[in-house]
Amino acid sequence: MIITIDGPAGSGKSTAARKLAAALEIPYLDTGAMYRAIALKALNTGTPLDDPDALTELARDTRIELDCGPTHVRVMMDGHDVSEAIRSMHVSEHTSAVARVPGVRQVLVEKQRTIGRQLKSLVTEGRDQGSVVFPDADVKFVLDASDMKRAERRYHELLADGEEQVTFDEVLENIRQRDDNDRRQWAPLLAPGRSIRIDTTHMTIHEVVERLLEEVRNRQAAEAKVLSAKS
Ligand code: C5P
Repeated sequence: MIITIDGPAGSGKSTAARKLAAALEIPYLDTGAMYRAIALKALNTGTPLDDPDALTELARDTRIELDCGPTHVRVMMDGHDVSEAIRSMHVSEHTSAVARVPGVRQVLVEKQRTIGRQLKSLVTEGRDQGSVVFPDADVKFVLDASDMKRAERRYHELLADGEEQVTFDEVLENIRQRDDNDRRQWAPLLAPGRSIRIDTTHMTIHEVVERLLEEVRNRQAAEAKVLSAKS
């Protein structure tokens, strides 16, 4: 069973995806981590962020290995552990410039599909998972929340990760900038057919996960009914 969760930064999709996957005992894929890894490498190597050919070549030449567990996402880039480095504000600010390049997307979308084919069952989260990468997914969710709420969540995450220099206003500004960049690109894609939209502004993470589980179980029950009717 393939379950996609798409939505903007801070919508709660990463935590929800991780907990849903743990409850269903299937793997989870954080596709944002892949784009962040390419952005980090571009920044580290001084690759110009306005050179699509150089960025595409860089994406092709980069080995990314992900180990997404119920409480952690471990990201290896060319054999180095970059799990923490990819979460910095600096990388967050530059990832959408890299993610906008069609060649980079092509490379990463292909990697994600390969992972999907190998695993067969997974919860995958990002921006384009239900629309572009896995259009035939079994259950597709789109999560959203107000920008204030999303900034609040990101701010607390950054503090928990030890990023003490950052202010709430900076995080809100970063979220708004990313929204501008991302929404221009993703707004038309964030409503793939058969998707279930959930506004998480006033929901706890526990409530979000319960809601997702309920939808998945309904879907599993409907499939079981079809199968028993056929036999
Ligand atoms: O989800 P996360 O905030 O880690 O994603 C970081 C950035 O990667 C997003 O702001 C977006 O620009 C890009 N991204 C994307 N497609 C995805 C996942 C992330 O373009 N499937």
